[in-house]
Amino acid sequence: MAASTAESVPLWPNGTNSLPPNPFPADQTLPFWRTELHELDNHRSTPELPESCDVLIIGAGYSGASTAYHLVESYGDKPLPSIVMVEARQACSGATARNGGHVKPIVYFAFPRQAAIYGNKVANEIAEFQLQHVLAVKDLVEKENIDCDFQLTRACDVFIDQGYADQVTASFNKIKASGATCVRQVQYTGARDAEQISGVKGAKCCLTFPAAHLWPYKLVMHLLSRVVEKGVNLQTTTPVTSVSDAPDADGSWVVTTSRGTIRAKKVVFATNAYTAYILPQYSNKIIPCRGICSRIVCPGPARAPHLPNSYSLRAGPGNSDYFVSRADGSIVVGGAKPFVSVRKDLWYNIVDDTKIVEPARQHFDGYMQRNFRGWEETGAYTDKVWSGIQGYTTDLASHVGEVPGKAGQYIMAGFNGHGMPEILLTSKAIASMVKDGKTFEETGLPMVFKTTQARLDDDRNHIALG
Ligand SMILES: Cc1cc2nc3c(=O)[nH]c(=O)nc-3n(C[C@H](O)[C@H](O)[C@H](O)COP(=O)(O)OP(=O)(O)OC[C@H]3O[C@@H](n4cnc5c(N)ncnc54)[C@H](O)[C@@H]3O)c2cc1C
Repeated sequence: MAASTAESVPLWPNGTNSLPPNPFPADQTLPFWRTELHELDNHRSTPELPESCDVLIIGAGYSGASTAYHLVESYGDKPLPSIVMVEARQACSGATARNGGHVKPIVYFAFPRQAAIYGNKVANEIAEFQLQHVLAVKDLVEKENIDCDFQLTRACDVFIDQGYADQVTASFNKIKASGATCVRQVQYTGARDAEQISGVKGAKCCLTFPAAHLWPYKLVMHLLSRVVEKGVNLQTTTPVTSVSDAPDADGSWVVTTSRGTIRAKKVVFATNAYTAYILPQYSNKIIPCRGICSRIVCPGPARAPHLPNSYSLRAGPGNSDYFVSRADGSIVVGGAKPFVSVRKDLWYNIVDDTKIVEPARQHFDGYMQRNFRGWEETGAYTDKVWSGIQGYTTDLASHVGEVPGKAGQYIMAGFNGHGMPEILLTSKAIASMVKDGKTFEETGLPMVFKTTQARLDDDRNHIALG
């Protein structure tokens, strides 16, 4: 499996060492999740951008909305500082609205690659942190009564190639033998029963573990409406073009946007794949990478059997898909990796989410009929295909905390295509750093996420197909 054979790729293909132009092209592909728009989608709380604020959050995706939510929550009934949130395009129009809707801890799959860099203890810590999110997100949805189709489920990773299944079985056993606690949550099923348990034709082994799925746009827009109601000033279609190198005389950072400048005592970069455009020290460290997703529906009133699990079908290294099965009978499936990941020019260092990779549509057509028992006669077809931009990090860990050398600037970005099981608790930690001045160490986050100068100075690149 790719996880055990990390390919070390040269930074910035073609030796350009530069970011692609125009990070925010218009006419993005339309994801299913943005087909029911919220009234705050294009919101500007005030016609003019405020001149200054205490806290400026850049980015209104899951990271930005969740940081604002935790910040506002932490003040309780006390008066809020002035909080402004700026977003380049519409609210929740980036990766969060274009993903697979999967809150899926990567319990065992990424473990070998992470362990190769950081050791077993850290790999286990990351997996446990991700596992915590399944119930943390459920608790949030229940506490705030968020209408976002949340479903607690089990992820089912299915291996359909014998050689690949043998590799993952050996790797899984090795993780177990290491004493890693995270794999206690994993149920392994071998060749004899894998097809019956998974429902996937030709399954050679499968592994299930706790997960959830939801409508990510609805989750984020609910959080945004909560904070806007409490006084957070949201400014959509306001790209930030630069942030001053040093604070001004009164200790504020001067943030330049397409609509003028705003001075902020503290700045949170919740900018994921686009971070390096305004924090150039993260160039070559957080790489924008394109992903593809689709929605498959069944025609007419007849529905295919509901799949209680969510899935990843893993045919080989760099050849996998993942999907969630929704209560409306549709399937949201992402990946199409054989058509995307194998051609670095189609996915690596790309910010264009206006196009899909055309063979991907063909890959999703007939996907359920080809792979799942009981779907053969359903007539299921691909209703929508879209693309989105993920932030991959060269050392496979997100960057979280105070930006090195920039007191009062905070970052949470680079979720390696798996932000849904990391963002909620990461943003809670960021909120406590911003409000209470907590150090990274005091937040209890996995230390490996701490953004440091040493990480920025490290030229290795562990991004691989997976
Ligand atoms: C196709 C695809 C499938 C995925 N599937 C899954 C999945 O199933 N499960 C999972 O866990 N993860 C998945 N991911 C990854 C997940 O979506 C991300 O990790 C997560 O959404 C990141 O949230 P975010 O808020 O940090 O980033 P985003 O949602 O991208 O939000 C960042 C926001 O910042 C704004 N911004 C950036 N720079 C500026 C600027 N200079 N000025 C103003 N605004 C700015 C952007 O416009 C954007 O709206 C997928 C991603 C993609 C693209």
